[in-house]
Amino acid sequence: MAIEDDVLVIGGGIAGATAALSAADEGADVRLVTHKESTLRNASGLIDVLGYLPSDDADGASEGPLVDPFAAIPDLPETHPYRTVGVEAVREALAFFDGIVGDAYLGAHTDDNALVPTHGGSIKPTARYPRSSAAGLASDRRDALLVGFETLPTFEGPLAAAHLEAAGVPFQARGVTLSFPGIVRDDAKVTRYAHLLDRDETVSTATGAETGAREALAAAVEAHLEGEKRVGFPAVLGDEGPDEVRAALEAHLGVDVFEVPMGPPSLPGLRLEDRLYAALETAGVEVRSGVPVVDYERDDGRIDRVVVDRNGAEIPHRADQYVLATGGLVGKGVESNRERVIEPIFDCHVPHATDRYDWFSEDAFGEHPFARFGVVPDGELRPRDGSGNAEFQNLRAAGAVLGGYDYAAEKSGAGVSIATGYVAGRHAAARATDARLATNDEVTPQ
Ligand SMILES: Cc1cc2nc3c(=O)[nH]c(=O)nc-3n(C[C@H](O)[C@H](O)[C@H](O)COP(=O)(O)OP(=O)(O)OC[C@H]3O[C@@H](n4cnc5c(N)ncnc54)[C@H](O)[C@@H]3O)c2cc1C
Repeated sequence: MAIEDDVLVIGGGIAGATAALSAADEGADVRLVTHKESTLRNASGLIDVLGYLPSDDADGASEGPLVDPFAAIPDLPETHPYRTVGVEAVREALAFFDGIVGDAYLGAHTDDNALVPTHGGSIKPTARYPRSSAAGLASDRRDALLVGFETLPTFEGPLAAAHLEAAGVPFQARGVTLSFPGIVRDDAKVTRYAHLLDRDETVSTATGAETGAREALAAAVEAHLEGEKRVGFPAVLGDEGPDEVRAALEAHLGVDVFEVPMGPPSLPGLRLEDRLYAALETAGVEVRSGVPVVDYERDDGRIDRVVVDRNGAEIPHRADQYVLATGGLVGKGVESNRERVIEPIFDCHVPHATDRYDWFSEDAFGEHPFARFGVVPDGELRPRDGSGNAEFQNLRAAGAVLGGYDYAAEKSGAGVSIATGYVAGRHAAARATDARLATNDEVTPQ
């Protein structure tokens, strides 16, 4: 019977997008179906590979921040996804990511982690960071002014500056809180701030004069500069044209401007999502959102087809190979009820203690087993059943649906998604090519 696609990717977060791009890059016909918004909208937009090594200690104390994440990978537990794919694959995958995002991300010049200040004033060890955060690195010795806004309480400039100083950064940090020209509502969305600057909308200044939002913001900040050579803002500096907005502010202020990555909703995360989806379009991947995979049919150890719910209609999708990239407990790729932890589409095995009280640590800051819940892959990233065999010959898993790592404690979320997405996509494309060649041999008269 005809195969509709070579590869069907289920889930459109960073893992699924990377898997689809990786398979398409190998010449496969790829389709991606996804349900709801991905975690990228909540994540900072930073690409963490490995910031901390998990510890065997009961207190959960971890080792780090790590200078070189790649050097630390061999010290991870054998069941960690990075150990499954191997350090060279992690490097290849990051190089692949660099090729997708181009000059929008920095950090590829070194194996060492960059130290990026985040909205609470903590410093994040990360492997790749958006260009918009480049002038904010904590290793930079230039003094910094951090500007928060009265209507955006999730970033407090003075508090973030105090935290940075307490962390011992090699520069002086100072913070101020200003009103954002043109914003009066306390509940304005971050996209409202960004669009005001994107469009350089006309706003009224404190003196009642009318001017463009970029100039008004720069003028408000300028009055507070005390010789600092760089100014940090919460990451709201433009949605469609962040480089242009930053350049305009820098021209007005005469100093470097950077964004401090924020929590949800995250504009850098949304910008990264836009880039990935633009790359999917360029690569010819068929993408359909808002359509959950709800069922499947098995045939002789393989997935024969999956069933997609399209507005209540159940549509079968067939492919030679499938990639499961449905996320973890956040994305609903892994779910729990009072009795079990499950992978809801294929019911792949998810190891967990039978007593649900053992899913958590008594210490709120300890190592919680639930943080590592997920499917257990073999060397080709095929989820394994309880006996250790591949659940299906043609299903691979990538990203947060995989178990064996705690992305929040290790700071490894996007890195694992990119590495496993890349490898799953490559394997899926290779197997699909084998199947095509075998079919051609059958139909070509000898
Ligand atoms: C608040 C927060 C902040 C974070 N910050 C960082 C950070 O700073 N740096 C970092 O590296 N990592 C960070 N992470 C972790 C990182 O974002 C995740 O590990 C990563 O995004 C997971 O990607 P994913 O593609 O595996 O899953 P997801 O992004 O969850 O995507 C899964 C997708 O699959 C879809 N899906 C689920 N079920 C179905 C179905 N049945 N059919 C079709 N589609 C389905 C979902 O709707 C979703 O779109 C953060 C995570 C969170 C929650």
